[in-house]
Amino acid sequence: MKVDEVGPDRVKLSDGREILTRTVVWAGGIKAAELAARSGLPQAHSGRLEIGADLAVPAFPGVYALGDVANTLAPDGSPFPQLGSVALQAGRCAANNILADIDGKPRSTFHYRDKGIMAMIGRNAAIAEVGQRRRELHGPLAYASWLGVHAWLLSGYRERVNALGAWAWDYVAKTRSSAFINRPDASHIDWGE
Ligand SMILES: Cc1cc2nc3c(=O)[nH]c(=O)nc-3n(C[C@H](O)[C@H](O)[C@H](O)COP(=O)(O)OP(=O)(O)OC[C@H]3O[C@@H](n4cnc5c(N)ncnc54)[C@H](O)[C@@H]3O)c2cc1C
Repeated sequence: MKVDEVGPDRVKLSDGREILTRTVVWAGGIKAAELAARSGLPQAHSGRLEIGADLAVPAFPGVYALGDVANTLAPDGSPFPQLGSVALQAGRCAANNILADIDGKPRSTFHYRDKGIMAMIGRNAAIAEVGQRRRELHGPLAYASWLGVHAWLLSGYRERVNALGAWAWDYVAKTRSSAFINRPDASHIDWGE
């Protein structure tokens, strides 16, 4: 059954049924930004733009597409997942190919280097698969690795130190930075409706 609509207090299914809820966890994947659809460029699955092995859009000279908006293919023809690491590495490759275009040199093919995958679940809880053998890490070790890797990926030393300081404070104080909901309709549900 497909989901047609998610409202503040319900989910509407394509057969007309409704599920009353105000907590919805969407795990249906993501699609490319709306801009891709409006560009008129050829699209693949989930609205992702068709690109060549050099990340350029075929038949549109000077146009590159990369990251979540692009259907970046592995050598076996399967699409790479929409991940930050794919986007980052594609960015580097596209920049080099643009420089190659300017210098009149041949472009390079995009090769993704899979360094592993990590997911933070909560306090002291994370999971990671690292290295070529996809060694699994769990619990506090994976949690500390996630923090270290994500701090390192920030763009400057100041940002890294600030992030580590904020995370350390959150960990010790067991608090999260303040957040608020400014949509009253999202905080009210009329179950009798
Ligand atoms: C909840 C969640 C968790 C994730 N966790 C991870 C993770 O742990 N590890 C990982 O590797 N990846 C993770 N990802 C995926 C990762 O965030 C993306 O793959 C990555 O950000 C893609 O980078 P990008 O530059 O292609 O797109 P984005 O980072 O989405 O950047 C696109 C930018 O374009 C802007 N934009 C869109 N349309 C327009 C327009 N018309 N005009 C101007 N600007 C526009 C958007 O506002 C956005 O700022 C996660 C994604 C989500 C949603």
